Amino acid sequence: MAGTLMTGATIWAGPTCEPQPGWLLVTGDSITAVGGQDTPPPPASTMIDLAGCHILPGFVDTHLHTTVVGWQTLGIDGAAWTDLPQALAAIGAAAAADPQAPWLLCWNARPFRWPQRRLPTAAELDAVAPGRQILVSGVDVHRGAVSTQAMRTLGLTTLRAQAGDVTRDRRGRPTGEIWEQAYGEALARALADAPGSLEDLTRRALDRCLALGITHAHEAYVAPQQHELMLRLAAPAAPRLSWAVGAGSGLLSPAPGPAGAPDGPYGAGSREAKLFLDGGDRCAVCLPARALGRLTLQAVRETVAARHPGPLRDALRRRSAVRGRELHLQYLRYAGIDLTRLLAGYLEAGIRPRLHALGNLAVRQAAEALRAAGAGPGAAVIDHLVLLDPATVDLVAASGAWATYQPGFLTTFGPQIVDGGTDRFLTVLGGRQLLDAGVPLTLASDHPAGPLDPLGNLRHAVHRTIQPAQALTRVEAVRALTTTAAASIGAPGAGGLTAGEPADLAICDGDPFTPATRVTQTWVAGVPRQGP
Ligand SMILES: [Zn+2]
Repeated sequence: MAGTLMTGATIWAGPTCEPQPGWLLVTGDSITAVGGQDTPPPPASTMIDLAGCHILPGFVDTHLHTTVVGWQTLGIDGAAWTDLPQALAAIGAAAAADPQAPWLLCWNARPFRWPQRRLPTAAELDAVAPGRQILVSGVDVHRGAVSTQAMRTLGLTTLRAQAGDVTRDRRGRPTGEIWEQAYGEALARALADAPGSLEDLTRRALDRCLALGITHAHEAYVAPQQHELMLRLAAPAAPRLSWAVGAGSGLLSPAPGPAGAPDGPYGAGSREAKLFLDGGDRCAVCLPARALGRLTLQAVRETVAARHPGPLRDALRRRSAVRGRELHLQYLRYAGIDLTRLLAGYLEAGIRPRLHALGNLAVRQAAEALRAAGAGPGAAVIDHLVLLDPATVDLVAASGAWATYQPGFLTTFGPQIVDGGTDRFLTVLGGRQLLDAGVPLTLASDHPAGPLDPLGNLRHAVHRTIQPAQALTRVEAVRALTTTAAASIGAPGAGGLTAGEPADLAICDGDPFTPATRVTQTWVAGVPRQGP
């Protein structure tokens, strides 16, 4: 009998992903049988002994940015910078080393961990690299800093961006610090001028996904003009690839509506549109009014600990307002009525909206607008939901939307949230709370904002130090990264390791929740794509 029989492994079987010792038969591109220890395996032409190994459904990362990862190989990585002077020294050295680069691109800066709590100003960038076009990107890919020459190219001195997207000094001149839409447009412009083939660079990022067991990568945003490129990248189907299409002018610009969306399908998924309801560092949060004193005190403490006014200065410049018994940190990009209209248009056209909502105020707006737009169960996705309260979670459950959750953010942004004191008032990355309310939960990386490593992200979802009561069980976490994830984007694999499903497998050399365990083989549609 034809086929490949895998024996001796623990198999995370079926749509519920319950681990059991047994065997699995692959014929052609599909799984044709799965059995436990008590069932004799069928004959097969090829046998693979996987004693001690675990076979999981291939990982479906429902939110990542392989195109951005591709570009990040051009430029320098600022992830390890610990303060502003160090960043400036590195930027100066990189500019001197590559005098011809049209743009000097710096990635992954984490100013929230620096005592200064801010990115360089244009004047500081000009001082270390005179006359150069420079873009420094924060790790969240929502904020950046540009040099004076870059501001001229971008027309930033005259740009009319959303209030607060361009930081200005007392005399109204841009300082070089840019946020959200202004940042997204700067990034799009810098990348349009960058050398190198985005296709080749992105292909390399997809190969890395494959090596880590990701059999389906869902790009959370591309511009409509990148749709053809994505179709070419999706053609080899290793890994499977799908994407959301957003605004043409930049990642964080307002969505154009269904008329601006290319015809489908979008690779291995159905049509999807990306909308940003709030920002990254600037998100829309609602806290009890009593939080104001506590958060200010926390900023003062941090300022003392850092021996630098940065933390307090950063806290004071957030736009906040007390409304009744609530403190609102305001950053909503849409008026509710406009959002409802936009969502209704997408839903009518059969396009699934994917709504970026990081703070609870944005999540509330997402859930209410989806309901008002008449979205049915599973018709939309809400991304991130980093800060939540119980009433908002109930609204999400009632909206019928899928939620994507990034446990990797617990390491990237968790310390920042705890240092700021918000975790005393709100749930931080509340996976447990969402699942318990009946929200279908998917687990994603949002790489490069979070770590790509899917096994690491599974472990963060299960073993967490920040609000440990929000932990998922192992089976819940695996389901969120595999079967539920596939269902959320209309992709193959929702049935998991079951006869009749595509043979997309992540084979690990041990228990996936043991830190030393690695993915050793990744199979896509019955073909081993990586490993021995
Ligand atoms: Zn993202």
